[in-house]
Amino acid sequence: MEFSLDGYCGLYCGACPTLLGSRAGTEPKPCHGCKSEIISGWCLICDLKSCAREKGVEFCSACGSYPCEKLEAFKTSAEYPYHTEVYDYMKTIQQEGKSAWLEKMRVRWSCPACGRQASWWDASCKECGAALTGYEKPGEAKNRPVP
Ligand SMILES: [Zn+2]
Repeated sequence: MEFSLDGYCGLYCGACPTLLGSRAGTEPKPCHGCKSEIISGWCLICDLKSCAREKGVEFCSACGSYPCEKLEAFKTSAEYPYHTEVYDYMKTIQQEGKSAWLEKMRVRWSCPACGRQASWWDASCKECGAALTGYEKPGEAKNRPVP
């Protein structure tokens, strides 16, 4: 089954726990990436995606209104701190192209010790325990429920 790892918003779907679970066959609501035919969760109703499709752009950064207020709100979302990286990602896509960026993302979001693909929430590798540079879920320390 094909996976599509680039999101219109600049996120790397390869670091999404839902996509990682789908690859492992453990995800009850599988997703194969933003631009694939098999999508779940928030990304079914994402308004950045519908906007990009309407405008016929491959990434938000190719849009005449980039960066718009909608994307700025997405980037600065307190709930999803990994969104802060999307402008840098799209800069790399503009300067070096999509495949170079995808390779950088594969490295950015994998364990430096064993190579296992990690999610943006992983502080340590689930395979070997090595320290990773994932994000802490906001509120987790206070035991608030996380969507
Ligand atoms: Zn590892």
